[in-house]
Amino acid sequence: MSVSSGEFKRMLQEKGFKLTTQRRTVLDVLQNNKGKHMTAEEIHEIVRQKCPEIGLATVYRTIQLLQELKLIDKLNLDDGYIRYEIGKFNDDNHHHHHHLICENCGKVIEVEDDLMGTIEERLESEYNFKITDHKVKFYGLCKDCK
Ligand SMILES: [Zn+2]
Ligand SMILES: [Zn+2]
Ligand SMILES: [Zn+2]
Repeated sequence: MSVSSGEFKRMLQEKGFKLTTQRRTVLDVLQNNKGKHMTAEEIHEIVRQKCPEIGLATVYRTIQLLQELKLIDKLNLDDGYIRYEIGKFNDDNHHHHHHLICENCGKVIEVEDDLMGTIEERLESEYNFKITDHKVKFYGLCKDCK
């Protein structure tokens, strides 16, 4: 599900920011490229087609803001780049998703289910620790490389 302009505007206002075409465009680029994992430079390239005057620094700042709003997630897929992707939305919450990384061809597969809830519950009670987030990557061989 995507974030509507109204919703996005409200989220920005809560943080003291205004909805601008540039901010909307950066979010749209990430929303339209679901499942791709883009670097700030790649996002900048696409955003520039609509906002030719936008600089890379502004794209970086906007990415930072979208992360604070929990609309996008930052990823490290072990290829030496910092990448970003849109979060996953459903009716009442947002969740990042997890990735399967093929060690042979480098393909990255999205895992739809979170499956981490039971593990978190167990860790929380065993270690008396409040978990707020997790990052999970699985390594192996994809179906073509297996
Ligand atoms: Zn992903
Ligand atoms: Zn593979
Ligand atoms: Zn998760």
